[in-house]
Amino acid sequence: MTQERVVYLNGEIIPESEAKISVRDRGFVYGDAVFDTTRTFNGRIFKLQDHLDRFFNSLRYLRMEPPLSKQEFADITMQVLEANLPLLEENGDYWVTQRITRGVPGGSPTVLVECVPLPFAQRAKHYRDGMPVIVPSIRRTPPEAMSPRAKMHNYINLVLATQEVEAQNPDAWPILLDMSGNLCEGPGANIFLVKDGAVLTPREQYVLAGISRETAIDLAHELDISVKEADLDLYDAYTADEAFITSTSFCIVPVSSFNGNVIGDAAIPGPVTQRLTQAYSGMVGVDIPGQYLSRL
Ligand code: PMP
Repeated sequence: MTQERVVYLNGEIIPESEAKISVRDRGFVYGDAVFDTTRTFNGRIFKLQDHLDRFFNSLRYLRMEPPLSKQEFADITMQVLEANLPLLEENGDYWVTQRITRGVPGGSPTVLVECVPLPFAQRAKHYRDGMPVIVPSIRRTPPEAMSPRAKMHNYINLVLATQEVEAQNPDAWPILLDMSGNLCEGPGANIFLVKDGAVLTPREQYVLAGISRETAIDLAHELDISVKEADLDLYDAYTADEAFITSTSFCIVPVSSFNGNVIGDAAIPGPVTQRLTQAYSGMVGVDIPGQYLSRL
């Protein structure tokens, strides 16, 4: 039995350490590539079709011809995942990612499908304490420069934001403002506020439409919680009753503070966040906070 995870690279399933990409690959040289990442719950992949739909839209935005069909990507993804499942620790789960770069100049695209275990232990405390959010000084790349709606390799804007925030508090998560001063998104994450029982989140036009964002919105509708996409600024954040972040890995994680201002009455999680998290857990068949908290 292999002790090493495998990846799919350009037609072959091979051990991860044998996967090699050219130093001339445009994905490496320019970040000229797209990707998408889902996760597993109990080893079962979550909303693969939705992630592949977003992946193919990102490819179209970058004017890249997909070298494989969506069905082929789904089949390869399942093959790679199944080969790697025996290597998961107990109660572990994977991030599962598809990537396509434009390849070497004049060549064909580079195609990669890979898995990596979710970092439950490092992130567990956020379910106990809540996530402190800091707004960095730099703004999210505006759609006029590059659409945040496509999931592309170029993450420098979010990397710079992370560095700025980590220098202040290594536990904090960045949420950037857009060019108009409205709350936008952070690295790998969408932001939600709760005010007077209603759930509020920035408009889809200026953020990556997270699959977990959409899941949280759908669950809110099912629970008869009102949801509004709106321009939200720091006033809204500072005066919110609750806030939470959604992402593939976190699903829903409570926010404890915004720039040091404690959110609401400091209950972690707040009641609406709690209801949505329970509904999310029920839907995926995993106690989401419990899976993180078991690592503390
Ligand atoms: N915004 C950005 C910039 C992201 O990279 C991600 C991660 N894909 C998200 C939001 C959240 O999306 P999802 O819920 O699909 O993980």
